Formats: sequence, C-alpha cells, structure tokens
Amino acid sequence: MTEQRNHYIAGTYELPASGEYFASINPANGQEIYQAARGNTDDVARAVQSAQRAFEDPRWRDLSQTRRGHLLRRLGDLIGEHADELARIESLDNGKLLREMRGQMSNLPEYYYYYAGLADKIEGSVIPASNRAILNYTMREPLGVVGAITPWNSPLTLTTSKLAPALTMGNTMVVKPSEHTSASVLRLAELVTEAGFPDGTLNVVTGFGAEAGQALVDHPSIAKISFTGSTLTGSRIASATAGRFIGSTLELGGKSPNIVFDDANVENAAMGVVAGIFAAAGQTCIAGSRVFAHASVYDELLERVAARAKSIKLGDPLDDTTELGPLAFRDQRDKVASYVDLGRSEGATVLTGGTSSDGGLGGFFFEPTVLTDVTNDMRVVREEIFGPVAAVMRFTTEDEVVSLANDTDYGLAAGVWTTNLARAHRMANRLDAGTIWVNTYRAMSPMSPRQGFKSSGVGVEHGAETMKEYSRLKSVWINTDEGPIGDPFVMRG
Ligand code: NAD
Repeated sequence: MTEQRNHYIAGTYELPASGEYFASINPANGQEIYQAARGNTDDVARAVQSAQRAFEDPRWRDLSQTRRGHLLRRLGDLIGEHADELARIESLDNGKLLREMRGQMSNLPEYYYYYAGLADKIEGSVIPASNRAILNYTMREPLGVVGAITPWNSPLTLTTSKLAPALTMGNTMVVKPSEHTSASVLRLAELVTEAGFPDGTLNVVTGFGAEAGQALVDHPSIAKISFTGSTLTGSRIASATAGRFIGSTLELGGKSPNIVFDDANVENAAMGVVAGIFAAAGQTCIAGSRVFAHASVYDELLERVAARAKSIKLGDPLDDTTELGPLAFRDQRDKVASYVDLGRSEGATVLTGGTSSDGGLGGFFFEPTVLTDVTNDMRVVREEIFGPVAAVMRFTTEDEVVSLANDTDYGLAAGVWTTNLARAHRMANRLDAGTIWVNTYRAMSPMSPRQGFKSSGVGVEHGAETMKEYSRLKSVWINTDEGPIGDPFVMRG
C-alpha cells in the first residue's frame, strides 16, 4: 500500500470524511504512486468554511496591499527554491517530461512576482459628476471564496493563473485539482502556509469531478468558480453558476490552426508544427492540432514534420533525453487511439505513428502521429483529441485558409508562419482566436492576457486585466452639500 495523501484545510492535513482514498498512477509505468483522499460534499463544506473564515479574518481582510505583495513574493521565492521537487512531483503524476516541468516550475515564481507588483496598484477612479457637491468614486473589492477546478496537464501553472490574482485581490480559495494530479497542489498549499499566508487562504480538496468538483460548484457560499478543463465540463459549470448569478472564468478546449504560408521559413515552421502538437504529447489546450500548409510548401513541410516525428524519442519522462512521454492515464491514451481509428474510417491516411505503445516501461504511450487526406468536416479535425495527433491540410489562398481556420467551434489560439509583415498583421486581425502567434508557438507569460473565444472559454487569465475576474466594482456617491436636498422625487448626479 502506498502513502495516503489527505485534504489540506485551514493550514493542515485533514482526513477525508468518507475515509476513502483512490490511487494515483504514474502513467510512464502504470505503477501506483500514492493514494489521494476522495473528497465529498462534507469535505468541500469544511474547506469552504475554512476559506470563508480566512476571508473574514482581519489578519487577511485588513492586510495592506503592500504586505499582500510581500507574501506573494515570498511564495514565489519558495516555489523557486522547490522548483526541482515540484517538477518531479508533476512529472511522476502526469507523465510530462521532467525537463519541461522544470522549465515551467522555474518560471512559476514570475507569476507571483508579477501579481505582487500589481497588489498595491489596484485603484478606483473618480467619476465626473454634474453637480460639484457630489463626489462619485469607484473601488474594487475582493469577491470572497473562489472555487478553482483544474485539469491534469499543467496542474501548478494552471492553478497559479487563478490563485495569484485571486490572492492579490484579497480573496481566499478552495482548489479541487484533477483526480490524476493531486500531489503538487497539496505541496503548493504547504508552501502557501510556509510563506506566511493565514491558515485557510488556500484549501485543497482532492477527489473526482462528479463528487468533490460538483460539490464545490454547488456550494452556496462560493462567490465564483474559476475553471480550466474540457468544454463539456465548462458548459455544465456555466449553467450551474449562471442560475445563482455568480461569475465563472472558463478556460476550455481548443482545436487550434497552425498555418504555414508559401513565404515562410519552412524549416522553422516545421519545428513550430512539431512544438505545437508533439510537445507535452499534444496534451495542451493550445495544441496546434490542425495544420494548414500552402500547396507550394505542403510536400516539403510534411516531409520535415514526418521525419522529425519519426525521430522523436519516446520513453521515461524523467530521462532528460526523452522527447515524448506517455499520455496522462490509460483512458486518455485509449481515447487518442480510438480517434486515430476513427480518422482511418473517415478516410484519413496515417502518414506516421498511429499506434499505442507501452514504451518498454508498462506505460500509456502513443506514437507521434501525422494524418493526411483529411478535410475540415471530419471528426478528427473538428474535435479536440488532446494527444500527439496532427491533421495536415492543404490550401492555396489567404481567404481560403482564413475561412478554413475559423470554421471551428473553438477559438483558443492560432499560429501563422510567414515572412510577410503585412500578411502577419492581416492574419492576426482575421483569425478568430484569443491568442495569435506569428513565427512562434506556445509562447506564454504572466503579463500577457489570454482569453478563449467561442467554445474555448469565457473571461481572461494572466495580465492586469485578470484582476477584474477576481474583484467586483463598487460605485460610491457622497453628497458634500449639507443643505436641503430639495425635491425628493428628482435625484441627480
Ligand atoms: P475535465 O473537464 O475532464 O476535468 C477538469 C477538472 O474538472 C478536473 O478537476 C475534474 O475532476 C473536474 N470536473 C469534471 N467534471 C466535473 C463536474 N461535473 N463538476 C465540477 N468539476 C468537474 O478536463 P481534463 O480532461 O482534466 O483536462 C483536459 C481539458 O482541459 C482539455 O479540454 C483542455 O483543452 C483543457 N485545458 C484548457 C486550458 C486553457 O487554458 N484553455 C488549459 C489546459 C487544459
């Protein structure tokens, strides 16, 4: 029996109310690594109560914004000091390359430093009034207890995108991490305590979506849900929260186009296509899963992408020479395999890859796969596969590729490869996606806002803009005229 991991509530570990646990499996070898607490409604109620108490505690509520900034900086420092440890925890849990997770973890402090810098710059404004005696100003207030629900592909980065701005505004939080990756967020909660945040500012309830996740969404004291995950779950959460008039920020799925023009540097574009779909074994919301190549460079691009795909070294994610780790769990690998079978039955050609493997380790691997002879109406081109599967299509004109690229339910990101500056700007204008990359792919920073268009989400993450997602605006009117207020039936600003 492996170690049991419990919920983190009010600054300490708490046993699950049900006494039940579930196994967390290392997808690289199929071995159990630990047992996570199976959260239910009672656990969520305890965690929300703890967050509510912390929200109302003068040690947190009345803390100056400068001091809040200091706490965020201290947390950033601690994450930096533990970056290797956190990277290893995540790599074991979700199978992503240790060197990718090390990169993510050493960048993670930047998020806390960025928001720490914003902490004492949250300002309201004075609104011009028609009457000199009236002073009308606005102020931003925290919302209260924010519920965060996150997926397994980048657990700490995606939690941080919510936690850092939420704490900066003075909210408190209950996080329900993915059932596949409970460990790193629990360790983060310990670091939050160590940094000096009052107990209960961050609480973690582990467990399944339909149990702990649903209980968090349904809890009446939650002021907002911030969710990253699939469009299907996001749509359920949107319905549940809309009925109670509480907000939700939703970062959902994608089927992003990666477009290579005839004037592109084809070698760079090929590497951009490989990075877009094979990095993280395609398990990124921003995966460039639909590749559009201009007819005149189609053969050359395909040759380069296929050659690189064939040479990708699949294996143990902890080994620094490995280029492709496993999918995060068996069902996800099987889902990818069944999509490739579906593609075959829809008429696609599997140019490279297309098969499952255990990587010689007993894990849940899938070979980097390139599909050709695909059209925009096939399910493999329309639906998010969330695996290392690229569908490559040909186009001839800019208008044609704009309409193909935009013909999707999603609108998360898009890549454009061109050396024509005017075309780059035109495409940035015409593509219906929240993030546009030109001659690069997967670039991301805490300073740069991201928003999913269409079925890819609602609300903004990262950047100063995101502070609005974790605050509410109050308008205050002060009448400085102490004389009679006049006609009570005609009030004026
Ligand atoms: P998922 O929707 O299955 O699960 C996400 C989280 O929601 C998990 O913690 C899960 O337990 C929970 N959940 C599931 N059902 C729930 C319910 N009924 N009520 C409350 N919570 C529930 O998604 P996943 O498979 O874990 O993650 C992959 C998806 O996440 C992909 O679609 C990917 O594109 C998306 N994603 C989006 C972004 C982004 O920034 N837009 C980033 C990463 C991943």
